[in-house]
Amino acid sequence: MEAKYDFARKYREQILKCSKCGFCQAVCPVYGSTIRPALNARGKMLILKEVMDGEIELDDKLIETLFQCTTCASCFENCPSDVNVPEIIKQVRKDMVHIGSCHPAFKGMNDVLKKHTNIYAEDEPEDFERERNKRAEYVYFIGCVGSYREDEATIAALDLLDRLEVDYTLIDEVCCSGVLEDVGYQLNQDLAKINVERILVTGAKKVITGCPYCWRTFNNRSEYTEIKDRGVEILHITQLLKDLNLNVKTDKRVTYHDPCDLGRHCGIYEEPRETIRKIAPNFVEMPNNRENALCCGAGGGVRGAFAKNSIAMARRRLKEAEDVDAEVVLTDCNSCIHNLANAKLRKQKFKIYTTTEFINKLMEEQNRGHVTQNKIK
Ligand code: SF4
Ligand code: SF4
Repeated sequence: MEAKYDFARKYREQILKCSKCGFCQAVCPVYGSTIRPALNARGKMLILKEVMDGEIELDDKLIETLFQCTTCASCFENCPSDVNVPEIIKQVRKDMVHIGSCHPAFKGMNDVLKKHTNIYAEDEPEDFERERNKRAEYVYFIGCVGSYREDEATIAALDLLDRLEVDYTLIDEVCCSGVLEDVGYQLNQDLAKINVERILVTGAKKVITGCPYCWRTFNNRSEYTEIKDRGVEILHITQLLKDLNLNVKTDKRVTYHDPCDLGRHCGIYEEPRETIRKIAPNFVEMPNNRENALCCGAGGGVRGAFAKNSIAMARRRLKEAEDVDAEVVLTDCNSCIHNLANAKLRKQKFKIYTTTEFINKLMEEQNRGHVTQNKIK
């Protein structure tokens, strides 16, 4: 009999491969913050098997279970049967959208990106007092969270690029729209076309992204392949920084939070550590690091749709930083920093920065440097 849903057509064998071993339970941030077995990867696979067997319907009643997944890939990383739960959940969300069952927050994201150029539906972006759309060696692509919510971190990243005399330009960027793929919709082709055109017109040889999700989208989505086809390399800012001479140090006890989108999804673990070790000899790892890093709780649309649990997930991560007596927590994703900062622990002693923001702060303290290269004078 022909399967009713695409998720069953594409992933039936993977779902049946789930041996219910439960290895995923210990690593699922949603389970960790709710202690509800139905919400971990195993619970989700059991529900989907029942849907495939016709025992339960795929409908609104399953929204809370199946949409509450940050797509962090921690379960996949630890699954002995190679069940790619985040990809399965993304397809299930598409099927649910198709039959009209969708979390309103996820639908809202798609609706917003039909009318606006960013996920916050804000029409006046911060201009960051930098030149835009000029010819330069690099394009710095900020991303929506950095443009509209974490502007201090973005200003610091731009100041750092200026101090390091990187020849870059900003562009009039629009949302890369990769996030729509996580929440049951298709990437917005009109927005992708605008970004591709605006990047290419600068003649840049490299695009530096501040956001790991934009990096994933530009590198992996067919709507953006023209960038690479035209010989333009796409780097996350951590990949640029590791080769630069930074010449600053801190004696503070520093730890690092691996963003899921940079680590498990892109395999970028060592570059940030190379940079941090250069500037912070007292670097300490949290118990769950690299492939096993705890998710900050922001991804997969969960921050917008399940805010309370999203914050609970971020607090679990911050608790780990507290347990290793960190004075500074660094990360390389504006979305992570946004969620971690909002989750602040009671009596929290450490500060949280992006790596670029922290390096810029050290440079600022060491030497009130000249920061005008790309600034509009
Ligand atoms: S780790 Fe993999 S096989 Fe084991 S219960 Fe989780 S999803 Fe199923
Ligand atoms: S992708 Fe992350 S949040 Fe989703 S089920 Fe797997 S471990 Fe849990």
